[in-house]
Amino acid sequence: MNRTNSKYGLMTTAIHSGEVPDPTTGASAPALHMSSTFVTDQVAGFSAHDLQDDGKYLYARWGNPTVNMLEQKLAKLEGVEDCICLASGMAATTAIFLTFLSAGDHVIVSDVSYAGVAELARDTLPRFGIDVTLVDMSDLGTLQAAFRPNTKLVHTESPVNPIGRLTDLAQVCKMAHTASALVSCDATFASPMGQNSALLGVDLIMHSVTKYVGGHGDAVGGAVAGSKLLISKIRGESAIHHGGVMSPFNAWLVARGLSLLPLRMQAHQSGAQAVAEWLQVQPQVTKVIYPGLPSHPQYELAKKQMLNMSGMISFQVGDAKTGRKIAQQMIDRMDIIHYAVSLGHHRSLIFWMETESLMETSFRLSGTQLKSYRSFAGDGVFRMSVGLEEPTDLIRDLAVALA
Ligand SMILES: *Cc1c(COP(=O)(O)O)cnc(C)c1O
Repeated sequence: MNRTNSKYGLMTTAIHSGEVPDPTTGASAPALHMSSTFVTDQVAGFSAHDLQDDGKYLYARWGNPTVNMLEQKLAKLEGVEDCICLASGMAATTAIFLTFLSAGDHVIVSDVSYAGVAELARDTLPRFGIDVTLVDMSDLGTLQAAFRPNTKLVHTESPVNPIGRLTDLAQVCKMAHTASALVSCDATFASPMGQNSALLGVDLIMHSVTKYVGGHGDAVGGAVAGSKLLISKIRGESAIHHGGVMSPFNAWLVARGLSLLPLRMQAHQSGAQAVAEWLQVQPQVTKVIYPGLPSHPQYELAKKQMLNMSGMISFQVGDAKTGRKIAQQMIDRMDIIHYAVSLGHHRSLIFWMETESLMETSFRLSGTQLKSYRSFAGDGVFRMSVGLEEPTDLIRDLAVALA
């Protein structure tokens, strides 16, 4: 099956979409257009309301050819009509919330999500009169009960950061659409290769392109992909008015990374599978969560929904004290793996995420929600982003750190 809705295969789509040889120079590689304004033959028109779909550029906050090249590449890879790239993953999430929610509206947000998103939803949206309900999206009964007549949006994430819990996107979309609500999904962990979000029903596919899409750890950016209508709403509100646009230089770097995404994700997946299988049999490791392992609590869903298991592993080593000790050993002893936040780069990264401190700051879960979190994370997890190095070298580094 060709998931890109184009007549080309994945690698061809990733390489060629959004690009054409330069008509004036014949350059085969895409140009970097560092221009903030564009010469026009129109006498007037200087408002978001004048934005036309005629492919002409006016000012870089409305659109820039290099950023547009990346947007077209991502849209094609996600199999949707359009995409908008913004300054960061957080800017992309904020764009979704502030474009589609108003005072008096209700939004359902995954109770575990990227820390910045969780804090934005819990602390900021209510200041603007938006009601927020945080729901464990793997608990479909609770999700169903959370809908209200004014629910406009369901914001989910799969797999969720940092514990690797999955969301049954087809089911969540069915429920939301029955309630006339839109669904946005933060698919950063999965990458565009990890799941066919559009086919599963997701209306707004969000990525922090800082992670897998760029893939080299050298540019921060975010994206939302979806229908022409929804993306043009975001462009009018969030690009033109809120102003958090992506720089052309970052777009050029990210597009260069995205061209090889299908190849990179195959290598992330096979590397992570090897590391996860090794971790699983180490005496110091008490639990490994990876969607490619049959021991993942939602392995059946992973096989059904995920087209690539990606490179994100969460593992436990016992209580928090042991976790902190091993984190320090990693900092002191690891040769290759960087002890750092972020993920999805060609360099492997690892970071200790302690449950208690995350509950105090980002998540503040209790009752059954906390129980579900702890069933994946215990007192804390190491979140490892398996890069593209030789898995045997990564395993050697981990063995020294765990000893
Ligand atoms: C990193 C990340 C974000 C935020 O993206 P930035 O580019 O850092 O703003 C959002 N969601 C997930 C799942 C992430 O990993």
